Amino acid sequence: MLHHLENLRGVEFSLPSVLKACGKISAFEEGRQLHGQILKTQFLLDPFVSNSVLRMYLELGEVGIARWVFDKMPDRDVFSWNSIISGCFKAGEVESARKMFDEIPERDMVTWNSMIDGYMKCGEWKLARDIFDEMGQRDIVSWTAVISGYVLNGRPKDALELFKKMLDLRFQPDVASIVSVLSAIADLGFVEEGKWVHAFVRRNKIRLSSGVLGSALIDMYAKCGYIENAYHVFKSVMHRRSIGDWNSMISGLAVHGLDQEALAIFHEMETREIVPNEITFLGVLTACSHGGLVQEGQFYFKLMQGRYQMVPRIQHYGCLIDLLGRAGHVEEADQVIKEMPIAPDLLVWKAMLSACLKHGQVTIGECAGMHAIELAPHDSGTYILLSNIYAKAGRWADVTRIRSMMKESGVRKVPGSSRIVVDGDIHEFLAGKEINLRYRYMVLSKLEEMMCRLKMEGYEPDLTQVLVDVEEEEKEGLLSLHSEKLAISFGLININKGQPIHVVKNLRVCCDCHSFCKTASKVYNRTIILRDQSRFHHFKKGLCSCNDYW
Ligand code: ZN
Ligand code: ZN
Repeated sequence: MLHHLENLRGVEFSLPSVLKACGKISAFEEGRQLHGQILKTQFLLDPFVSNSVLRMYLELGEVGIARWVFDKMPDRDVFSWNSIISGCFKAGEVESARKMFDEIPERDMVTWNSMIDGYMKCGEWKLARDIFDEMGQRDIVSWTAVISGYVLNGRPKDALELFKKMLDLRFQPDVASIVSVLSAIADLGFVEEGKWVHAFVRRNKIRLSSGVLGSALIDMYAKCGYIENAYHVFKSVMHRRSIGDWNSMISGLAVHGLDQEALAIFHEMETREIVPNEITFLGVLTACSHGGLVQEGQFYFKLMQGRYQMVPRIQHYGCLIDLLGRAGHVEEADQVIKEMPIAPDLLVWKAMLSACLKHGQVTIGECAGMHAIELAPHDSGTYILLSNIYAKAGRWADVTRIRSMMKESGVRKVPGSSRIVVDGDIHEFLAGKEINLRYRYMVLSKLEEMMCRLKMEGYEPDLTQVLVDVEEEEKEGLLSLHSEKLAISFGLININKGQPIHVVKNLRVCCDCHSFCKTASKVYNRTIILRDQSRFHHFKKGLCSCNDYW
């Protein structure tokens, strides 16, 4: 077929599409042969064809060959340069990308945007920002690339700041940038900012039915602890709901421990014959897990494979194992790990570790811990869970062994931190760290008063839990200083009576802080809404919405 390319008139018009197809379907051999044929012709003089050859190799991940093609190209246009720059980033060759960028004779918007995007995807957010700052003229795509890049790199505060700066400079945000900033706000848990963006969306009559915006708003409200507002948005898009809207609503209800409500939404989906996807089932399984609904969870795990013909992914197994383990079926969870067709990941082992800690299963916990350390030797959470399992069983020699193992491998603990917003200002408290001098006396004396009043109400500090995020030797003095306790006492002083106190914590809440919050909600007659690493706890009148099951 390819022997007489030279004799075929007009073939250069179809060549690019064939080359593109080779790249798309990973047909390296066919693509290489076609390239070989093209080399015997004059077709490479056509920039459209030569760029297609270049793109094909980049698509195939053959950066080396692509570079060779690029170097040999008689006419490189800005399109060729942009392709090779993105290709270098995709292959992780960050320095080559930069070199290309510096050599490029003319840069268009795409060049700048691919540099920003490429740096962001490689985790180089500082370099991406430098490029952005260097730009003379910026378009909305470049603003969005930096905002979403910050979110991707776990820098939600920077994302929010840049979004505001963009509005100050009178740039009209597009849906993509609004979705990104909403996800940043969701990470931070600052509902006021979220409400402000929501109002902006309304004022500018931006339609929620775009498929992603509605679900981003639902997600934001749910993650900020305002599940009613999330439901309100969900209701408002009733007639044009995307699958994302349904999924965000189900997962939102799930992390708030509203398992029955989450399942009701799923049933509504089924009644309306809306086909769920893999994410829907993650939400459903999470709801079952937080609600302790073992049989229901197993039922939905089978349903997704039977009626909906889906192959469960590692995250679905993770949910199932978490569900079983949390409910005390630790051996059954262990069996699932042994029989599952995919290799367990870190999250699976950590779910097992948490279950073993909760239910005092040392042997299975030890085994899970070793697997987890093998997979991620620098994850501090594993060591802490494992040493807590030993501590609970009174095996102090093993606790010491794990601690020194942790020290030897240079594992750094993630410090516990809690954030609270008062009058639009973010206040962050770190466990075991000095508090801002301005507030120190105020917070510590409030906490002291709280401790007295709570103890009279029956709260007893539980020293065994301090291991969660504080070094053992410091524990007596610091017990009262777990970051959420500091944030809550700060909130009690500064947030008007009748208003709930919202706190966002980066790690899981420990048993001691949990009972501290319960008693505080009763003694001070305040609702405390605490978001920890895995879910929401709504404390009210001495009880928690999780029913102490977390
Ligand atoms: Zn605590
Ligand atoms: Zn709770």
